[in-house]
Amino acid sequence: MAPGAARSGALQSLMPARHEEPIVAVATASGRGAIGIVRVSGSDLRPLIEALCGAVPEPRHATLAPFLGREGEPLDRGIAIHFPAPHSYTGEDVFELQAHGGAVLLQLLLARCLEAAAEVDPRSGRARLAGLRLAEPGEFTERAFLNDKLDLAQAEAVADLIDASTEAAARSASRSLSGAFSIEVDALRDALVDLRMLVEATLDFPEEEIDLLERADARGRLERIGVDLERVLGRARQGALLREGLKVVLAGQPNVGKSSLLNALAGAELAIVTPVPGTTRDRIAETIQIEGVPIHVIDTAGLRDSVDEVERIGVARSWTAIDAADAVIFLHDLTRLDDPQYADAEAAIATRLAQSAAGGRLIDVYNKADLVASTAADGSVAAAVRGHPTVDTVRISAKTGTGLDTLRRRLLEMAGWRTDPEGVFIARTRHIDALRRTAVHLGLAEAHAAQRDAALELFAEELRLAHDALGEITGAFTPDDLLGVIFSRFCIGK
Ligand code: GDP
Repeated sequence: MAPGAARSGALQSLMPARHEEPIVAVATASGRGAIGIVRVSGSDLRPLIEALCGAVPEPRHATLAPFLGREGEPLDRGIAIHFPAPHSYTGEDVFELQAHGGAVLLQLLLARCLEAAAEVDPRSGRARLAGLRLAEPGEFTERAFLNDKLDLAQAEAVADLIDASTEAAARSASRSLSGAFSIEVDALRDALVDLRMLVEATLDFPEEEIDLLERADARGRLERIGVDLERVLGRARQGALLREGLKVVLAGQPNVGKSSLLNALAGAELAIVTPVPGTTRDRIAETIQIEGVPIHVIDTAGLRDSVDEVERIGVARSWTAIDAADAVIFLHDLTRLDDPQYADAEAAIATRLAQSAAGGRLIDVYNKADLVASTAADGSVAAAVRGHPTVDTVRISAKTGTGLDTLRRRLLEMAGWRTDPEGVFIARTRHIDALRRTAVHLGLAEAHAAQRDAALELFAEELRLAHDALGEITGAFTPDDLLGVIFSRFCIGK
């Protein structure tokens, strides 16, 4: 079967010939390593393998073999594995050279593959592997998708597994890769298909339509699909959170302890902590994790008016970061509450924060609790910054760690993290968007069904649109240009 032939007709007609060219890439990360892998995928690799190893190893057996240069001299010796089509990652013939992991050696082997491919095969009198070229990012996985080895949600999970920044994200990506998310989406789709078949059949018998739909409990079925969809959407949202994390900005005046808090949350010395005001001039972003949810914390330059040009640029950037944040921690210094200058600056920042896009996503955090005996003073700061829509206040000491657990919990709550990461499958904004559109169309279908003279065509049309939106997730109805975008974000060799 030609590569890609297994995918649906619509996709196939859009498919350019590039999917039929053999490809090669170094599959392992660049740099030194014990092992480095060069991988080839194409329709019939045997003539190439003969040139590279002297013989074709037994299918799917790890075979110690020399990797030969142009004159038959060994460039290296390693493990050769041949996965004849269709039982391979891509569904095509795949050949792997597992060599020593040196950057120069791997480039040498890559060049040798391209060279050997162009050599004339004495048996056929033609090139050993005509048209072999370097693979583009994600091209091996794209072929796996096109050859029905993986659906689109699983293919995306491959990239998410590689890019996972926390253990929980890796585990949930692995769950999606094994099909957990796809199974849920397919179950929704099957229920929708059943309902559509019923409705489409009813359309042919207009005089009986209402009766038929009632007997088959069309509205009840629609409602149940809606409930299941909400459940999947809820879990997908958690999965997206695991994948994308939460952008949190640490805002506040110079010296309130922003860098110290970042270090305390991360558990390591990340930012330079100094007692000189204005020393955190630029943003420092660091990813920490709370219960496996990646939290990208951006430490901002102290928010204060400055005559220093560099510092002013830093402050302007801080505001840009604040506007784009999912949550903003407004940090206050408990030891300076009685300082009128400090209080004025607090009020100014509070006013500005209230105007920013961050309004409603603020947590007021009072720092240096270890230096202040009573908590009574907190109220006066709250009064000073009155007028900005604080959702929460937390009292902490970045130095001793007091209150940090509470702060971590508040951040997770703000992010909407509800579930224990066990059982969550990884998901992307694209999936959430498709599920939401499915829900909108189901809602419209329900509205049509609820009318007295139910417009059956409109009901049927909304069901069709819901079905299409759902199909985008696993790739049944995914436009070609979107596929291009998805796979181009993979690393080369995957
Ligand atoms: P930034 O300018 O807001 O980033 O503030 P830094 O993190 O550089 O902290 C300013 C000063 O306050 C440093 O000397 C820190 O050691 C000190 N500091 C920060 N947090 C605490 C705290 O919770 N307790 C005490 N005692 N000192 C702190």
